[in-house]
Amino acid sequence: MVGVASSNLATPNVNIMSIKYLHILCPPLWEKLPPLGPAYLFSYIKLQKIKVYFYDLNALLHRGAPIEFKKSWTINSLNMREDFFEFFFKNYYEYFEQILNLIEKNNIKVVGFSFFNINKTFCYKTISFIKKFFPDIRVVAGGPEIFSYYVYNLFNYSQIDNFVVGEGEKALLEILQNKGKELTVFESLEEIDFFPTFEEFDLTLYARKKSLPIMLGRGCINKCNFCSERLLTKYYKPKRLDIIAKAIEYYKTRFKVNWLTFYDSMLNANIRIFDDLLDILISNNINWDAQIGIRPDMEEELFLKMKESGCVNLFIGLEAGSDSLLQKMNKNFTTKEAKKFFQMLNKANIHFEVSLIVGYPDETEKEFDETLKFLMDNKDKIPKIAQVSIFRNYPGITARKITPIEENEALKRLDRLVDFLEKNNFNYTRSYINNLV
Ligand code: SF4
Repeated sequence: MVGVASSNLATPNVNIMSIKYLHILCPPLWEKLPPLGPAYLFSYIKLQKIKVYFYDLNALLHRGAPIEFKKSWTINSLNMREDFFEFFFKNYYEYFEQILNLIEKNNIKVVGFSFFNINKTFCYKTISFIKKFFPDIRVVAGGPEIFSYYVYNLFNYSQIDNFVVGEGEKALLEILQNKGKELTVFESLEEIDFFPTFEEFDLTLYARKKSLPIMLGRGCINKCNFCSERLLTKYYKPKRLDIIAKAIEYYKTRFKVNWLTFYDSMLNANIRIFDDLLDILISNNINWDAQIGIRPDMEEELFLKMKESGCVNLFIGLEAGSDSLLQKMNKNFTTKEAKKFFQMLNKANIHFEVSLIVGYPDETEKEFDETLKFLMDNKDKIPKIAQVSIFRNYPGITARKITPIEENEALKRLDRLVDFLEKNNFNYTRSYINNLV
């Protein structure tokens, strides 16, 4: 069956498991690498001898999607299209049938979904479809969108039996053992002493070959005012480096992996641990990319070591080029520090991309102009602008009471910024302009 792990790939020497769990990933989500969140869930519950099945409907449907859908796959507007689910349901019904077969054949009683804002409609429609055939099946919903439900109190138990807010491992295990609550909120693991084995995944489905996602630590040390990260994980939680080393060794041996993409919010959150991680990466002769934070306390040697360790690309949340605006955002660095950080990266010959936010609450014309000036002054240092988004206010997430600037004004500034990038020949990613809607 396409997209479903064959049972002989499961962890060897495990007794016949009586509890079975199916996880379904609905489109449209980024599809180039296997999803890391579910991979962690699977490896954790498998330690308790639970049999896991994974059906990546997202990757399967993306493969066969017409170009008009593929072009805007990860842009939220796709979710708004009435015909998105219906198109795939009609043209790829065999995949939906495979899900039913899988449930029936394996007598699966619990099925889980990863909810994102972009795929929630597809999730609901898939759940309705499954419930028509298996009305008693237990449905569990986790993922970033469930955090928004928590903020807005939008839980609707008519189709979903269990909601999980925050990290999912402990909550899912309890649900599978019939000890779960209808709503589990922020039940985190103290220590993450295991790594995802990706045995449930058909890795041929993903565009990036010999490549896997990995994570050094959950959470972030910063508390940027607009970011949900400071609420999702109470403190920065790095994993044990010996576990990371074992994971890399396993991925290289088992899947011939030569490229790792770190999914950390801030890979350099703890500089000592980051430095030790670089030693592990050097000894593994592997390429990697990651998101890191601008911090003034990184020595030049560390940048050179990053290059030596196989760093190929970095994503950096610059967000603004105005000191007063950076302060309003609580970004924890100044423009002078950002400039120095970029110089160090240039010196080490490391490619990087930055993101920007336009129309942050109270952003003045002067601050917006300062951002343009900063970009112009540092054009030779910034290889690429990866993402420009207008600020979105998510009540409960934004740290302080805010007065968002008029949407029209924000859109005008976005246009001005894009014009500015165009006129001045900046390297920027067109498809990631204002895609975070
Ligand atoms: S550094 Fe990045 S991940 Fe951390 S709080 Fe700020 S925006 Fe969020």
